[in-house]
Amino acid sequence: MSELNILEQYKNLQRSGTLDELEALKKTNKDLERIISDISKLIQFTDIDKMFDFMISKFLDYFIPEYLTFLIKPPRTSSLRGYCFHQLKFIDEKLPHKYYDALKSFFEIEQTNIKPFYFFDEVKEKIGDKKFDNDFLSKKPYLIIPLTGIGGVYGIAILSKKIIGGDYTKEELQYVERMFSVLAVTIQNGLHYETSIRDPKTGLFTYDYFLTRLKENILYASRYKHFSGLIMLDIDHFKKFNDTYGHLAGDRVLETLAETLVETVRGSDCVARFGGEEFSILIQECNPETLFITAERIRKAVEKIELYEGDEKLSITISCGACMITDMIGLSPKYLIKKADQALYYSKQNGRNQSNVFSMGLLDKICMLKEANKLP
Ligand code: GH3
Ligand code: MG
Ligand code: MG
Repeated sequence: MSELNILEQYKNLQRSGTLDELEALKKTNKDLERIISDISKLIQFTDIDKMFDFMISKFLDYFIPEYLTFLIKPPRTSSLRGYCFHQLKFIDEKLPHKYYDALKSFFEIEQTNIKPFYFFDEVKEKIGDKKFDNDFLSKKPYLIIPLTGIGGVYGIAILSKKIIGGDYTKEELQYVERMFSVLAVTIQNGLHYETSIRDPKTGLFTYDYFLTRLKENILYASRYKHFSGLIMLDIDHFKKFNDTYGHLAGDRVLETLAETLVETVRGSDCVARFGGEEFSILIQECNPETLFITAERIRKAVEKIELYEGDEKLSITISCGACMITDMIGLSPKYLIKKADQALYYSKQNGRNQSNVFSMGLLDKICMLKEANKLP
């Protein structure tokens, strides 16, 4: 083909608009590749906070809605979780339950024809604007996105307009639509994972999850010489408490005790319900002395719990037993639990409402080395 012909062909393609179409296709392809790449990263998270961090980092590259709010109803709870971002920065604010109820009722009307997103004006038109007061309108809601998972809508995302750049473009809406449809599934997976490692009565971690964390701590101690501690605790004379005040009052005690335990230790410490009225806690970065001090702090905090049954003030005490998680060869979860339990038993025998830390003697070391086949 001569040079002239090539030029002629090119001009023809340009005139017919084919070249523009090709450019547009290339752009669409790039947008889709971006969505696929972001989605493939998003689905790897199990932690909901990390999912939000990721989404926010992606939005920052793309566009900034003035407000972005998530209202989520986790399974088996009546409480609502709210995550609110102002100009993509997390703010400690939660929209009241009534807005969730109003929007949820809208999705119930829509039922099987739920769309990936709605403009707020459309929602307002269908259910009336009485349900949305000035407080809600001050968030300038623009897009309403249902978070749909197995079992239907379990949450709602609300986006305001962008801080710059006018209305959302077609591509931006497409990005929001696709990302949020996957986000809805990953959040629900995250919520199910959370419930699977939590005890339903107290909200504390389960025994199984605790064991996993205990094994991690043993590894961490031997590898990095970061020592931690294990505290086991048990309510004193709880059977008598139940017999006197009833099981429901006993359950309220367990719930309040769980809250107290979580409030008394650091966020990185793992608080679990070991079973019945027994609890176990992993204390990070400690030595025998600080472990004892922590156990005592917990014990004293529990002593101060005030609960009422009618006019009667109820109180409980606990006994604690603890042991250090060190880099000793052959340390196993079973061994550590046994030793903390021995210290707890000692606290009970010695009068209850006290703490004791198991100290490793030479004999224990020999027994463990034998167990690990290091000695004949
Ligand atoms: P001690 O000081 O020796 O620990 O005495 P105790 O009576 O607390 O010990 P024991 O282990 O004999 O009794 C534990 C009691 O805890 C028996 C049971 O009724 C009660 N319990 C276990 N799980 C629950 C629960 O989920 N709810 C309520 N209300 N009580 C529970
Ligand atoms: Mg017990
Ligand atoms: Mg007890």
